Order: sequence, then structure tokens, then C-alpha cells
Amino acid sequence: MRLAAILAREKGIVAVVGVGDGHALTTGETVIVDAAAGVITREPTDDERARAAERAAARRAADDAPLTPGALADGTPVALLANLGKPADAADAVARGAEGVGLFRTEFLFLSASQAPTVAQQRDAYRELLEAFPGKKVVVRMLDAGADKPLAFLNDAHEENPALGLRGLRALRASEDILREQLTALAEADAATDADLWVMAPMVATVEETVYFTGLAREYGLKTAGVMVEVPSSALLADRVLAHADFASIGTNDLTQYTMAADRLLGSVASFQDPWHPAVLRLVREVGAAGARLGKPVGICGEAAADPLLAVVLVGLGATSLSMAPSALADVRQALAARTRDDALRLAEAALGADDAPSARTAAAALAAALPPHQKETTS
Ligand code: PEP
Ligand code: MG
Repeated sequence: MRLAAILAREKGIVAVVGVGDGHALTTGETVIVDAAAGVITREPTDDERARAAERAAARRAADDAPLTPGALADGTPVALLANLGKPADAADAVARGAEGVGLFRTEFLFLSASQAPTVAQQRDAYRELLEAFPGKKVVVRMLDAGADKPLAFLNDAHEENPALGLRGLRALRASEDILREQLTALAEADAATDADLWVMAPMVATVEETVYFTGLAREYGLKTAGVMVEVPSSALLADRVLAHADFASIGTNDLTQYTMAADRLLGSVASFQDPWHPAVLRLVREVGAAGARLGKPVGICGEAAADPLLAVVLVGLGATSLSMAPSALADVRQALAARTRDDALRLAEAALGADDAPSARTAAAALAAALPPHQKETTS
């Protein structure tokens, strides 16, 4: 997933990446862009236009539905949280019913900075964010520098394979003063506000890194410290990782990239970057099962959580919260409300049983079409 794709989703702009023959499109040509399926239809037939209009109307209806907390039809809560890159976007997330923040990408604040930000600069930004969510959970990720999001003050060496290099928590450890300053700024913002601040480290690959980060965060008085599961090693060892971390948050963008060994920035291998792949889903199941055994929350904060059908599958695999671009909240809220826990488990089984990503999606969609949609139980 390219940075541009993440930003487009944040702004609610319909976008498809990795289109091989995109240059063949001509000005004035009519196309249907189905960003959910990642498909562009050229010169659509009347039938295709009618179906696209129906899908657009269903989206508008979801947007107009009441902003209830996320839950399955049987009442099982699944918190719906926002992915944010700057505090100014918090108001829109709140207006769309976000129950908190599941991923605040702190590096987005400093992408063009040549010097490390000061504690005061950071504290002011974090404080503005936390003030928008009084009493609500806000998960802030430590600076995730490297590969698709290089920060000049953390990534100065040339690397042949930056996605496999000194990035994420590895880069922060190499400049521990910057990590400590960020924790200081977060602790100060936390003390000045009423949000429920959770902090997490990106690109954690080992139990030792988990112990290192959670220990450091607690040293600064930050009471809820977790890790992102983005590397297959930490998914496979989720029970060991969660023995030390307060929570796990699965970053499906990187988890897919590393599971499939396909650079998420490279259009030529974009077809591998599909979180529906059963290998990725098995890893998610591993983390979900470990979280359930240990009573630790397992969130999803990769773009996969924004796909309404996949969101239900992820809950069936053990996700306890879903975080996404605010523009996706309405569709996912509606998809969850139409399914019970039992449905979610069955949809997850259907996807897990497939050989590849397209068949996993097709199997889940076929089962979803056959299951009766449920009306969410309402309390009056
Ligand atoms: C992810 O990898 O899924 C994730 C949420 O982090 P980012 O996209 O910022 O790398
Ligand atoms: Mg990531």
C-alpha cells in the first residue's frame, strides 16, 4: 500500500493503485472505479452502470445511518476506531462516529522535517489529538520511519532493501534519545488530558523487542503499552509477545508485504499485496487466538479493516477492534451489524479454506450471500 493510497483513503478519494495499463485511458472516456474491489471497468454496459449506481446508493445509505458503536448483530461489541495522521483530522473522525483512535501515525507529522522534533512540538500535537477524544481510547504509534515513510533524522544510511532494514522500532532503538523524547512528550500530553492513551511500537519482530519497548514505555508512566504485529515472526510468536504486551495491533499492510515477500511500493507485484491471502489470514488467526487465551485486545489497523466483508472475517479470526480511515467507518459499521459472531466464524473458515486471495474473497462473498442478513438487536 503506497503512502498515496493511504492518504487517498483518509480523504475519502476513490483510488485504485497498481493499474498496469492505466496509461491507456483517454480523456473523456467513461469508467467505473470500484476501489473496494480494486477494479476499473472501461466503457461500462448499462447493466454495469446500474449495479455501480446501486452500490453508490448503498454507500450513501450507510453514511446516513445512525452513528452507533460498532457491534455484531448479536450485540458483540467491536470498537470502530480511526486511523489518523494529524490532530486536525480528529473532528471529522468524531463526526463519523469513531469510538477513539486505533492508529495515530506520528511520523506523518514530521515527514518533511530534517531535524528531530522537539519535546514541546510533539507534546502540543499529541495534546491536541488527545483533547479531541476525552475518555476515549487513543492508540499512538511511535515514529515508524523507513522504507515508504523515511524520516531524514532517523534514516540517514542508504540501504538496498529499506523495507528489511533499520526501520520502525529498530531505527528508534538506534536513536534511543529520539524514542525517549517521544515518550516524554506523550507522557506530558497524557498528564494534561483525559483520553485513555495507549502507545505501541511499529515493526516489532521479536519477544525481546516487545520486552524492551513495553518496559521503556512503562518507565515513562505510560500504562498501556503494546506492539504492532506486522512481521510474520511476531504473529507466529503472538502468545509469547502478548505475555509481555498489553495489546497487539495487526498492521495488515506490512504483514501482507512480509508474508508474501512483495514490496508494497512496487506496482509490478501489487497483486501479491492482498490481505485476503489465506497465509495472511492464518497469521491473523494466530494472533487472535493468543489474544483470546490471554485476555489481551487484538486490534486491526491495516487497510484490511476498511473492507466491509474482510472486516467481518477479521472479527471471526479474533480481532476485538477495527481501525480505519474515517471515511470507511459507516460501511464497516453496517457490515458488522448484519452478522452474528457465528456468521463471522463461518465466514472466516470459508476464507481460510481457500488457496489464494481471490478465492478467499469469493468464498466469503458466496457464503455471505447465502447467509440471512441479521438485524442488529437494539436496546431501547
Ligand atoms: C500496516 O502496516 O498495516 C500499518 C497500519 O502501518 P503503515 O501502513 O503505516 O505501515
Ligand atoms: Mg506498517
